[in-house]
Amino acid sequence: MSEATSGSGGGAANTGDGDGAAGAPAILTVVLGALRENYCTLRDHAEGAECAAVVKADAYGTGARQAVQALAQEGCKTFFVATLPEAGVVRAAAPQATIYVLDGLFPQAAAGFVEIDARPVLGSLPEIRDWAAFCLRTGVPRRAALHIDTGMNRLGLRLEDIDVLAGDMDLLDTFETSLVISHLACADSPDDPKNEAQRTAFDELRAKLPAAPASLANSAGILLGPSYHYEMVRAGIALYGGRAVVRGANPMRPVVLLEGRVAQIRNAEAGETVGYGAAQTLNRPTRIATVTVGYADGFFRRLGASDGYPGAAAYVGEYRAPLLGRVSMDLITIDVTDVPEELVQRGTLVELLGPHVGVDDIAAQVGTIGYEVLTALGRRYHRRYIGL
Ligand SMILES: *Cc1c(COP(=O)(O)O)cnc(C)c1O
Repeated sequence: MSEATSGSGGGAANTGDGDGAAGAPAILTVVLGALRENYCTLRDHAEGAECAAVVKADAYGTGARQAVQALAQEGCKTFFVATLPEAGVVRAAAPQATIYVLDGLFPQAAAGFVEIDARPVLGSLPEIRDWAAFCLRTGVPRRAALHIDTGMNRLGLRLEDIDVLAGDMDLLDTFETSLVISHLACADSPDDPKNEAQRTAFDELRAKLPAAPASLANSAGILLGPSYHYEMVRAGIALYGGRAVVRGANPMRPVVLLEGRVAQIRNAEAGETVGYGAAQTLNRPTRIATVTVGYADGFFRRLGASDGYPGAAAYVGEYRAPLLGRVSMDLITIDVTDVPEELVQRGTLVELLGPHVGVDDIAAQVGTIGYEVLTALGRRYHRRYIGL
């Protein structure tokens, strides 16, 4: 990430000037080269299965248009999104791509799929009947995926639904089933017996349906090994540098760098307090930098500090700068007493997510998962893409 952090490790303050971001209160940098590298790593793991990319929720907060373009350049041909509007963004970025919409088909929505050439992932009998009726009416057996529920109880066909379908194959003949999917509940815990149980159920249930390419694995599922790969894997979080598996090292490259900017620096005495609720009392003469990122930007309030409760830390170059006091809506305060003065001045950019502070470190600190940290990233940031 040297290109993203240039200036932060040297002898002068990192102000991010000269790249169009000068004066931006906070900068979110997306390193597309890392995204592409992560895609190649996962594709290699998939050993011959097609590696599709899950780009729902604006590509996990990184920006769907740019992420899709980069992944398509890397050879990715199939994209999964949650909603039809998201599919529209993917279509504009990748005119040739195959696009599946995971949330399925709402009443009256079929024509919208045709408009942008997206395929619904059908997960209930009413959805299947709607798609079949639309295909009959328009005279074209259009493509869709079928979703089998093997243990999530969220989306997908249950055994009894599949038995209904098996007794009424004409219904499935009215359209083309281009893919059959299911979703793993516990793939992040490789030893969980539920993984094997779901794989077995998937095989039993899809055997009752017309033959079609199959897909079971999310990021963590890819790492469960070849018996989980089928014809296609669906990589999400690992593409964006997040941890897919609970234990062990995370081999993925970080994709996101978040920097906030110092608005003011002040010296305060021991015994003074910082921020809302006077939650933190200074125990030494302290140099405080106020940085323009807050909980409205997805920097969780739980990351704040108080007496007896350490918060998150920012980094100024290689120097750790712990949070002082609570996170405000638009601001945080950090302790820069131990940072050389020339490195931290008004206008300096400080690292909040990046080489020193991982997405999953932040997640662990607030008791959530990297997925939520990424998708919570705010809308106020100046976004810059490296490697467009
Ligand atoms: C989100 C999602 C994925 C991707 O999961 P990751 O854990 O992010 O890799 C795959 N399949 C389905 C059905 C999903 O909803």
